[in-house]
Amino acid sequence: MAHIHHYDAVIVGAGGAGLMAALESGKRVRTAVVSKLYPTRSHTGAAQGGMCAALANVEDDSWEWHAFDTVKGSDFLADQDAVDVMCKEAVDSVLQLERMGLPFNRTPEGKIDQRRFGGHTRNHGEAPVKRACYAADRTGHMILQTLYQQCNKFGVEFYNEFFVLDLIMGDDVCSGIIAYEIATGELHVFHAKSVLFATGGYGKMFKITSNAHTLTGDGPGVVYRKGLPLEDMEFFQFHPTGLYRLGILLSEAARGEGAILRNADGERFMERYAPTIKDLAPRDMVSRAEFFEIKEGRGAGPDKDYILLDLTDVDPEVVETKLPDITEFARTYLGVDPLKEGVPIVPTAHYAMGGIPTNVDAEVLRDHTGAIVPGFYAAGECACVSVHGANRLGTNSLLDIVVFGRRGGVAMAEYASTNPLPDIPDDVHVHTEEWLRSLTEGESEESPHEIHTILQDEMMDKASVLRTEESLLDVLETIGKLRERYGRARVKDRSKVFNTELVEHIELGYLIDMAEALVVSARARTESRGGHYREDHQLREDDHWLKHSFISKAATGETVLNYKDVTLGRYEPVERKY
Ligand SMILES: Cc1cc2nc3c(=O)[nH]c(=O)nc-3n(C[C@H](O)[C@H](O)[C@H](O)COP(=O)(O)OP(=O)(O)OC[C@H]3O[C@@H](n4cnc5c(N)ncnc54)[C@H](O)[C@@H]3O)c2cc1C
Repeated sequence: MAHIHHYDAVIVGAGGAGLMAALESGKRVRTAVVSKLYPTRSHTGAAQGGMCAALANVEDDSWEWHAFDTVKGSDFLADQDAVDVMCKEAVDSVLQLERMGLPFNRTPEGKIDQRRFGGHTRNHGEAPVKRACYAADRTGHMILQTLYQQCNKFGVEFYNEFFVLDLIMGDDVCSGIIAYEIATGELHVFHAKSVLFATGGYGKMFKITSNAHTLTGDGPGVVYRKGLPLEDMEFFQFHPTGLYRLGILLSEAARGEGAILRNADGERFMERYAPTIKDLAPRDMVSRAEFFEIKEGRGAGPDKDYILLDLTDVDPEVVETKLPDITEFARTYLGVDPLKEGVPIVPTAHYAMGGIPTNVDAEVLRDHTGAIVPGFYAAGECACVSVHGANRLGTNSLLDIVVFGRRGGVAMAEYASTNPLPDIPDDVHVHTEEWLRSLTEGESEESPHEIHTILQDEMMDKASVLRTEESLLDVLETIGKLRERYGRARVKDRSKVFNTELVEHIELGYLIDMAEALVVSARARTESRGGHYREDHQLREDDHWLKHSFISKAATGETVLNYKDVTLGRYEPVERKY
C-alpha cells in the first residue's frame, strides 16, 4: 500500500539549494518539497561565514577576479564556463536575497558589508579581498529562514520528515520518487514531471567532521544504485579549523577577521607554505600544512596532535560581535576562551566537491559524454556542476546553492510545463516495500553502530588529507568487508512510528556506497590535485589528469570509471602559488 501524490515538480531536500529551487519552481508550477528534516534544520542553517559576490561594496572587486580565484582554488579542475555563470550571477543572487529581507551586516553607509575569506583575492592574487557577504556568523541560518518564508508565501507544499528511498525511472525518463513517512512508516509515491535532488553532503563517512548527523549521501546513493554515474568523488574537502577531537567548525571568518594559525613553537607556519596570503590560503593547502606540521612533531598539546587558532590579537569587540557563535563553541566544548588563549583545532571533513553530475541548468548527466536524464535535476552540495573542481573556496557553496538552486528551479518548471506526466506502473512501490521488509526480517548479531565506527575511523586514517596506494587499497578492502557485514545486519526495532533505527540503518548503507565511490576514484587518480593529495604521487599532472572522473556501478556490482575533459577557458593551468 502506498499513498499516491501528483505534482508538476518535486524537490528532495529543503536546504538552501532545495528551497531556492522550490521558490522558483513554485512561482511557475505546482511544486512539492520532500525532506527528511524540518526545512530549517537543514545543514545550510549551520553555515557561518558568508556568501561571496563581487559587489565591491568595501573594496574594488570584479566578477572576473572572483572567477579567477575560483578556478585557481579548484586547482584548475573546475569547468570554467560554469564558474563564469556562478560568479556573474553572484551579485544578483545576493541582491535578490536582500530584497527578500535577509538581514545582512551593513557598512556604516548602509551597504551590505563584506569580509575576507580564504583564496579570494584582488586582481588575480595580489592580496586578500573583502568579498564575503554575511549576517554575523549565522549566514546560512538567515538564508534558510528567508527562503522558507518565501516558499510558504508562494504556496510550495512541504512534506517534512519524509525519507526518500528511490527514484522512479521509466524509459530512462525520471517520473517521480518513493518516500517513507518517518512518523507513520507508510510509503508515498510522488508521481511528477520533474524531480530535483538537493540532499546535501556526506561528511559522516569520516570520524572528524563538521557535518550534521544527517549528511549521509542519500541522494547520490540512490543515483549510484540506479547505475548512474557520480562525478569527481575523490575530491573531499577538509576544513583547517575544526575543534580538536570534535570536528565542530570554527569558520574561516575567524582568519578573515585576523586570527592566525600557530604550531607548538608559536610559529605562524603558513608564512612558509603560502608567503603572500598566509593563513588565508585555500583550505586544501592549509589543511595539508597542518597535517605536515603535526607529522613533523610541531603539533601543540601533550600529544603534539593539534594546531592553535590564535584570536588574541583580534579586537575583542570584533570577536564578540562578528564571531559570536564560534567563540561560544570554543568556550562550551573545549573550555577555552579565545580572547585569552589559542583554540586547539585540526582539519575536519567538511565538503563534498563530487556528486551527481549536472550541467549549468542543473540537468543530471547520464554519462561522461554529457547526455542528460530527462526530467531529473540536482543542485547544491549533492551535485557536481563542476564549479569547485578539486577544492572549493570558502563562501562559494552558499553561492552555488543559491545560483544553481535557482537555475534548477526555473529549468524543472519549464520542463514540467512542456511535458506530459509520464505513465508509471501501479505497483511501482512494491520493490521498495519488499526491501524495507527484508531489513526488518530475521535476527542478526551484526552491529550497524560498529560498522559505522570502523568506516569512520578507517576513512579518517587512510583516505582523508593524505593518501597512498597502500592506504587506499587497505581501506577499500575494509569497505568490502563492512559491506558484507552490513548486508547481514538487521533492524531490531520493528515499530512503524518514528523508527529512527531503520532510517539510520539505510543511511549507513549510503555512506558505505559513498566511501566506496570515493576510494575507488582516489586510487585511480595517480596525481595530487586540490583536496586529493597522494604522498606517492605528489605532483599535479595536467597531461594525464586534467579530467573529471565519472564512477558508476554495473549491475554485477563492479565499479566502472570513465573520464570527461575539463572545460577550460580564459585561465591556462599554471602552478598554484599563494
Ligand atoms: C558547519 C558548516 C559551516 C558552513 N559554512 C559555510 C559558509 O559560511 N559559507 C559557505 O558557502 N558554505 C558553508 N558551508 C557549506 C554549505 O553550508 C553547504 O554546502 C550547503 O549549505 C549545502 O546546502 P544544500 O542545500 O545542498 O544541502 P543541506 O542544507 O545539507 O540540505 C539537505 C537537505 O536534504 C534533505 N535530505 C537529505 N537526504 C534526504 C532523503 N533521503 N530524503 C529526504 N530528504 C533528504 C535534508 O532533509 C535537507 O533538507 C558550511 C557547512 C557546514 C557543515
